[in-house]
Amino acid sequence: MSATILDGKALAQELRAGAKDEIAALADSLGRAPMLAVVQVEGDAASSRYVRSLEKLCAAAGAGFRLDLLPADVAQQALLDTIGGLNADPAVDGILLQLPLPGHLDQSSAVLAIDHRKDVDGVHPINAGLLAQGRAALIPNTPAGGMALLRRYEVELRGKRAAVVGRSAIVGRPMALLLLQADATVTICHSRTPDLGAVLRECDVVCVAAGRPGLVTAEMIKPGAVVVDFGTNVSESGGLVGDVDFDGVSAVAGAITPVPGGTGPVTNAILLRNLITAARQPRG
Ligand code: NAP
Repeated sequence: MSATILDGKALAQELRAGAKDEIAALADSLGRAPMLAVVQVEGDAASSRYVRSLEKLCAAAGAGFRLDLLPADVAQQALLDTIGGLNADPAVDGILLQLPLPGHLDQSSAVLAIDHRKDVDGVHPINAGLLAQGRAALIPNTPAGGMALLRRYEVELRGKRAAVVGRSAIVGRPMALLLLQADATVTICHSRTPDLGAVLRECDVVCVAAGRPGLVTAEMIKPGAVVVDFGTNVSESGGLVGDVDFDGVSAVAGAITPVPGGTGPVTNAILLRNLITAARQPRG
């Protein structure tokens, strides 16, 4: 069997084009472009690269972008004041706090300080709670992108067995809740799961977010299953690899996301979706 490739690049292009039209319409009704504000604490080159990519994404979609770049030794209160200022600014629709923060800062209280209606990363506990209850919420971009890929390729989830490998608040856990909302029967696996292969082999859909290159191999996959690989790992040769042994698994699976070109590109496009949702919310 040779798996269908779930093409994240192509879907991201479609999503960005759709978002651009919606942003133009919103800009007409609001009298200004919807605005994403990024808060970054200096000191991490990868984070700076990601922030530059967000700036380009917003520019191409016609959305506003502002960056609050804080010094590496910024005090907690100054960080909270910055977030408070963005919460109060009616021209700011979405706030994205670049994580992780340096060790001297308290991440939980910084995330809690974000107005959950502007939380375009879906990290605020109110959004996590709404998602857990199956109610409308701003959803973390990566799992929302995984679901968008499954929808785009019309993967049947209702009544299917699904597994998620990884239980982080930003990828694994929300992905499991989204699959549950789509009426799949979901198992969450993690580092203490004794026989990962035994669980995965029973599943029609396998989503992996562990940060462990090559963790999921062909013999763990039921023939014809759909495999979504969120893993983003730098290989010894400097390239990007996922958590799934792509060559082996694609010979067994029915469909699979490549790395790169799978879930990664969709994640950013979904951020625009969340920005649009946030900009449409009434704020009093
Ligand atoms: P994380 O916070 O480190 O969580 C990793 C999860 O994997 C944990 O729940 C851990 O279990 C589990 N795990 C680790 N080793 C395992 C093993 N041998 N067997 C089963 N489970 C295992 O990572 P994350 O932030 O969720 O990110 C996961 C991956 O997704 C990373 O490669 C990251 O770069 C990537 N990512 C991709 C995107 C994208 O846009 N595609 C976005 C964000 C992250 P415990 O809870 O027991 O420790």
